[in-house]
Amino acid sequence: MRLTKRTYLVGGGSLGFGISNDYDCHVYVVDGGGELALIDAGAGLTIDPILENMRFDGLDPRRLRQLLLTHAHADHAGAAAQWRERFGVEVAASPAAAEYLRNGDEERISLAIAKRGGYYPRDYVFRACEVSRVVSDGQELRIGDLRVRVYETPGHCSGMASYLVEENGRHVLFSGDTVFHGGKVLITNVWDCSVKDYVTSIDKLAALEVDALLPGHLAIALSGGSKHIRTAQEIFYRLLVPPNII
Ligand SMILES: [Zn+2]
Repeated sequence: MRLTKRTYLVGGGSLGFGISNDYDCHVYVVDGGGELALIDAGAGLTIDPILENMRFDGLDPRRLRQLLLTHAHADHAGAAAQWRERFGVEVAASPAAAEYLRNGDEERISLAIAKRGGYYPRDYVFRACEVSRVVSDGQELRIGDLRVRVYETPGHCSGMASYLVEENGRHVLFSGDTVFHGGKVLITNVWDCSVKDYVTSIDKLAALEVDALLPGHLAIALSGGSKHIRTAQEIFYRLLVPPNII
C-alpha cells in the first residue's frame, strides 16, 4: 500500500490493517531509487504475505538491501533472520537491540513474559540474527538517494530507535513502538520499560518537524505528524501518562 511517493506499508497484523500475519507489526518499505529498505521485519511466522504485498505494489524484493529495525521485540524483529537469509539484507539496529538480536535472548526481548501473557503462540521461537550495522543517535544513513537520521528513543524498551527519512522536503518518521497516532504510547510491565526514558525520547521527537508519522501499529498520519507527538509530550508534562494503544 503506497503511503507517500517513497514509502509503502507492506505488512501488519491484528494490531494493524490485517495485511500480513496476525503477529506482525507494521512493516514498511522505503524506495531509495536504486534500492529498497525494510523498516521492521515482522514476527517471522511467515513473510509470504509481505512478499505478495510488495509484488502487488511493484516492489521487487530482490532490490532489498537493508533492514532497519526499530527494536528487538519479536513482532518487529522475529523475521530479521529470514529476510537476511533470503535476500541478503544488511540488518541495522541500535547497540542494545543488536546485542539482543545476536544472542536471540528471549528474556531480554521480553518474549518469555509475552508468551506467558498470551501475546504469542507458546511454540513460537525467536531466531537470532546477525546485525551488520550498529546505528546510534544522530547518525545519518542512506537508502539510495534518501537521507535517514537515526534517533535513539528508549522508553517502550531498551534499544529502541526511530528513523527520520527526508523525502522531497517532507519528513517521514518511523517511530516503532515509541509514539502512535493520537499521542498514544505503549508502556508495559517489562523489565526495560522506563517512563523516565520515555519522556526524554518524546521530547527528542517533539523537537522535530514531522509530516508523516508511521508507527509500529494501528493508525498512520500522513501529515501533521508532529501534532501527535506533541500531544504525548503535553500529557507527560502534566505528570500523567498518555493512553496506551492497547
Ligand atoms: Zn515493542
